[in-house]
Amino acid sequence: MKFNTLLIHGGNSEDPTTGAVSTPIYRSSTFHQHVLGGEPKWEYSRTGNPTRASLEKLMAELEGGLAGFAFASGSAAIHAVFSLYSAGDHFVVGSDVYGGTFRLINKVLKRFGLEFTVVDMQDLAAVEAAIQDNTVAIYLETPTNPLLQIADLAAIAKIAKAHRVKTIVDNTFATPYNQKPLQLGADIVVHSATKYLNGHSDLVAGIVVTNDQEIADQLAFLQNSIGSTLGPDDSWLLQRGIKTLGARMRVHHENTAAVVDFLEKDPRVARVLYPGLASHPGHEIAAKQMKHFGAMVSFELQEGLSAKQFVESLKVIDLAESLGGIESLIEVPAVMTHGSIPREIRLQNGIKDELIRLSVGLEDPDDLIADLKQGLDQLN
Ligand SMILES: *Cc1c(COP(=O)(O)O)cnc(C)c1O
Repeated sequence: MKFNTLLIHGGNSEDPTTGAVSTPIYRSSTFHQHVLGGEPKWEYSRTGNPTRASLEKLMAELEGGLAGFAFASGSAAIHAVFSLYSAGDHFVVGSDVYGGTFRLINKVLKRFGLEFTVVDMQDLAAVEAAIQDNTVAIYLETPTNPLLQIADLAAIAKIAKAHRVKTIVDNTFATPYNQKPLQLGADIVVHSATKYLNGHSDLVAGIVVTNDQEIADQLAFLQNSIGSTLGPDDSWLLQRGIKTLGARMRVHHENTAAVVDFLEKDPRVARVLYPGLASHPGHEIAAKQMKHFGAMVSFELQEGLSAKQFVESLKVIDLAESLGGIESLIEVPAVMTHGSIPREIRLQNGIKDELIRLSVGLEDPDDLIADLKQGLDQLN
């Protein structure tokens, strides 16, 4: 089946008892056992729930993996993946990963004895040089947040394999519609399903998919042992959201092209960061490993222009954290998502005060462009 068909007919698309085409919400916490000491398919909803299982099967199919696992948030999914490892294990981590992932690493995982080296994933030589005797995995995102840097997934997975370490990719920004890390050599994919997968800014969820049976068995054990599972109502809502991923992405891309074109031409915008632009340093790699370049765009206002004044003046585009929803969301990384990073380090990492991140939604592009224009017109 092609991807857009799989979105709709994947998972357990038909309920075996009633034929319902929408997977029912099984709210039961426990399941009747007909035989004492048998091995029932369903026994307890933390261990396995039919609604969650349909979503997990769907996500495994979409990413081209063996098994999927649904969690209460993207952060819980990432935590479960790191729980595969033990004190003394070392990871090479991308320098531009999600802020919450850095917080998890620095404030939680380090206390449990996991070790980390942070590296620019665009620099393959640096990635290889950071691998130590106790390295177990390379952990990265591409495109990154908020600079939309691109890492060469196939090249990194090849380095990882040569050193017998795993490759773990946070595929939140690209979604399996645009990028399939497992097919490029990665071993584990994680998602904040809160973003594009659900797509409607109305739930928080996380997904892990792997194509390695041993890792899948361990993840099933950890999901059940740690217990940060996604409930049946949210599992159903997420699967419903995923059904329209293809339709949504096509409009996201169409709108993004119009918005990028407008921003590129406006003299008050100093620089547009979008992997779809030939001027983007990661453009060629993105073109090779992604179906399309996504709908996240960052741009810098000319030096001295106020990002605060601009974003506060917008009327259609919502000033808010998060991304990947049907509504356009805008934020200023220096103040919001990356505000906890000291200004000097932030500037070193290329996150200027004038940098703005835009998640282009599904509104009429004329309204988005008119809103951006009126916001820019107010700057002086
Ligand atoms: C939002 C996000 C996360 C965290 O996911 P939650 O669902 O908010 O816990 C992880 N990675 C990326 C790239 C994200 O954008």
